[in-house]
Amino acid sequence: MLVLGASGDLTGRLLLPGVGRLIAAGRAPRLELVGAGSDDWTAERWRQRLDDSFAGADEGSTAEGSTAEGSAELARVKDASTYHRLDVTAPGELGRLLKTLQAPVAVYFALPPAVSQAACEALTAGDLPEGTRLVMEKPFGSGAESAARLNATLAGLVPEDHIHRVDHFLGKSTVFNIVGLRFANRLLEPLWNAEHIAKVEIIFDEDLTLENRARYYDHAGAGRDMIQSHLLQIMAIIAMEAPASLDERDVRDGIAAVLRASSIDNHFARSTRRARYTAGAIGDRPVPDYTAEAGVDPANNTETLAEVEIRVKNWRWAGVPFLLRSGKALGRNRKEAVITYKPVPHLPDGFRGVDAPTRLHIGFGPENLTLDLDVNGPGNLFELDRVRLETELASDPLLPYGEVLDSVLAGDPLLSVRADTAEECWRIVEPAFAAWRAGTVPLEEYAAGSDGPADWRSSRPRSAGDKQRADG
Ligand code: NDP
Repeated sequence: MLVLGASGDLTGRLLLPGVGRLIAAGRAPRLELVGAGSDDWTAERWRQRLDDSFAGADEGSTAEGSTAEGSAELARVKDASTYHRLDVTAPGELGRLLKTLQAPVAVYFALPPAVSQAACEALTAGDLPEGTRLVMEKPFGSGAESAARLNATLAGLVPEDHIHRVDHFLGKSTVFNIVGLRFANRLLEPLWNAEHIAKVEIIFDEDLTLENRARYYDHAGAGRDMIQSHLLQIMAIIAMEAPASLDERDVRDGIAAVLRASSIDNHFARSTRRARYTAGAIGDRPVPDYTAEAGVDPANNTETLAEVEIRVKNWRWAGVPFLLRSGKALGRNRKEAVITYKPVPHLPDGFRGVDAPTRLHIGFGPENLTLDLDVNGPGNLFELDRVRLETELASDPLLPYGEVLDSVLAGDPLLSVRADTAEECWRIVEPAFAAWRAGTVPLEEYAAGSDGPADWRSSRPRSAGDKQRADG
């Protein structure tokens, strides 16, 4: 694997730790790791980065191999790893390095998007060793047009199934947990449609703030950072038709069909919301106003919380709003899809108490499943009461980037965003982003540490006092 942008933030913080876990788990046999970047790093400096990133990767036993074997393999990869200084955009430089590597090679573009585009344009198919896989980071382009341009450049280099457009939220466990839940349970699928479901919410609220990432985030905002990519992908898996198999073609065709049917109503002040955090506190931690964070330009009007209502215009979902919401500096981490069912057509007269809709929650980190039901209350059988049936879902011990790389090294594009889908995602959100830029949708405010503006439509987090009954 050749990592371009080896001295960068993503490589050090997320990518290499993921690689380390993968190696320690015995899931990257015979991997050779090569770093390249424009920084003039010595071999010692690169070695130091690998030592730091792999630290702890072999702690604890793994299902696939013993810790001792994992440690030995980590040491082997580190000892054999080299770093090369080069300008990836300079004609011939990257091609020359690639020719010295043993096939097949996975080239990981951990580079700023414009540099990735230039690097790909500087390559020719003849530069690439047999079986080369290209791994592209998000954002994939900056709009439908640039995504299409990048797709065309990549298509001139390798076949589509050798291109991995990374969405590290599409970990195996996230995707397969949803697919398994939906299509292995007779109970769910017959009700999974507009006749029975009132709304679907996909919520990624974080209590993290900017965390020194203004250079990227102040231009992206919550819309580009989360909704355009991760949340639309998860929505598509929740809304897709049953695939015949877990083969990449069946699953990715299903995802693509949903996205092609999706759009945001063009009354954007109704169909979208955006807001920015002001000073507040998250727990004991004081948080400054977003505009006072280092590197932020208030004139960018960057939203730190966004909510969009997507309509999936097909027979199954006509009329059902899909609310996608994500934000930073919120009072609590909340990462889940919430499926709210319609009320029963008739509640027998005589019942009192809570009459709330059935809700299914699919949690993404921790991976869990919760079903909120009304049952006859303890003490008084006529009094309805709320209970929660809860179970954990499977999660992969690999870090998200470990899961992504696992698929890349196995040559499986299932979890990669396909070319057409990458363009569709931009097509869906671009009109809303244009309306935001034009000021059609006001930029609201919420105090850091709160649940966001009070009158937004996504359902509030459940209170800690909700009753709970564990089943699982
Ligand atoms: P950084 O700016 O930290 O790193 C970029 C790297 O690219 C640096 O090592 C830089 O080297 C190198 N580089 C730039 N130009 C060239 C060139 N012409 N030739 C060779 N190397 C070059 O960016 P990030 O690591 O944060 O981001 C990389 C990608 O990952 C982006 O697409 C980003 O959107 C994506 N991403 C990042 C996340 C994160 O948390 N950081 C999360 C999700 C996605 P030098 O410094 O010497 O110029």
